[in-house]
Amino acid sequence: MKDKISKIVSLAKRRGFIFPSSEIYGGFESGYDFGPLGVEMKRNIKQLWWSEMIKNHEDVVGLDAAILMSPKVWQASGHLTAGFADTLVECKECHKRFKKDEIKEKACPECGGELTKPRKFNLMMKTFVGPVEEEASETYLRAETCQGIYMNFENVLESMRLKIPFGICQIGKAFRNEITPKNFIFRTREFEQMELQWFCHPKEVDKWFNFWKKERVKWYKKLGIKKENLRTREVPAKTRAHYAKRQVDIEYKFPFGWGEIEGIHNRGDWDLSNHSEHSGKDLRYFDEETKEKYFPYIVETSVGVERPLFAFLVDTYQEIKGGRTKTTKSTKEIEILLKLHKSLAPIKVAVLPLVRNKPELIKKAKEVYKLLKPHFVCQYDEIGSIGRRYRRVDEIGAPFALTVDFESLKQNDLTIRDRDTMKQERVKIEDLVKVLKEKLEG
Ligand code: ATP
Repeated sequence: MKDKISKIVSLAKRRGFIFPSSEIYGGFESGYDFGPLGVEMKRNIKQLWWSEMIKNHEDVVGLDAAILMSPKVWQASGHLTAGFADTLVECKECHKRFKKDEIKEKACPECGGELTKPRKFNLMMKTFVGPVEEEASETYLRAETCQGIYMNFENVLESMRLKIPFGICQIGKAFRNEITPKNFIFRTREFEQMELQWFCHPKEVDKWFNFWKKERVKWYKKLGIKKENLRTREVPAKTRAHYAKRQVDIEYKFPFGWGEIEGIHNRGDWDLSNHSEHSGKDLRYFDEETKEKYFPYIVETSVGVERPLFAFLVDTYQEIKGGRTKTTKSTKEIEILLKLHKSLAPIKVAVLPLVRNKPELIKKAKEVYKLLKPHFVCQYDEIGSIGRRYRRVDEIGAPFALTVDFESLKQNDLTIRDRDTMKQERVKIEDLVKVLKEKLEG
């Protein structure tokens, strides 16, 4: 099963989804870059999450806060203290560090050297603001996007004239100096988070927690994740994040085991009360009707973009020995099929002239490509046999392939091939945009 990961890593690189960062220098610290297809798929995930939050729910508004904030934010949030640290042991010889709970040996697994006693190591990434590198100019790259939301709790509340309960959502980069980045894009030091912070009355927090938990599970299922590969797990108090009164992880069954893709947290009043205390600004909410003044409780749904993207690739990757059709010469080969949900697929439509050596066909196919480009992310491909090109389309998960053939020149039509059923239907070129829109949005 582990082999599946290396196959996905290889497909991701070969077809322009994900590349190792700084590859010509040997890569950099398990970092990854998203290629032309990866960036489209990432945008689709972000877009789907954003419209789910903003369009499908009342009283949720968006925000885009700065990555660099006052270091006082991280002091108050508990991230600079033991709350956001891993327990590590260090080798006295080679100085490599290991997570205490991941190492079974008594000596260093790399060089056999003696290990230090366990100690806490902070995960925040330090940087300097301004020209002088001194303590006074130190700050941190944000380790979670939500702190920017708490900084703007009052600004948003007042400018939008909101009443509790309401939510603020944000998408943006977060950074953690992870000790052991691993499993491809599952654990990296730089990632993108999509977070909703839902502010509610403390007495209603359980109700909202359950509401958002259900909503989030629904979202994955709507996007086609196989039911048997998704579960929720109630996280016990001793392994919860330092701010969480309750935590449920949404987990996906990766080939390396179940892994968290999203965390739902009841953060209580941890953040707003701590920021009030540290900043001296009273962040309590005043209810005009009941005249009650209180710190709202926060239900957070927090997900990285990369983990679900990885899960969608794993979930939809299929290999078919000999291929689904026996008409090509390549029957002994393995056909790869990525059955991505239409809304997630980076390329929606591929345009293929039946053969390459007929200039009239090429001309027509290029006209079709030009017609579609403003409406859909599409790809034009004329190299190789048509069977091979269908396979290339299937392995990137494009839902539809259009073939311009000799009939097209007479009838001004073409065939639409469905990725999953491989059925083909003829459609007039003048109806093409409408038909494809219906198919893709329906
Ligand atoms: P883990 O236990 O796996 O380290 P976490 O509990 O620290 O994760 P949260 O702080 O709850 O994670 O972050 C919310 C979400 O952000 C996670 O569910 C995941 O999707 C994403 N995330 C967190 N850390 C990373 C990382 N190092 N690389 C990629 N995504 C991450």
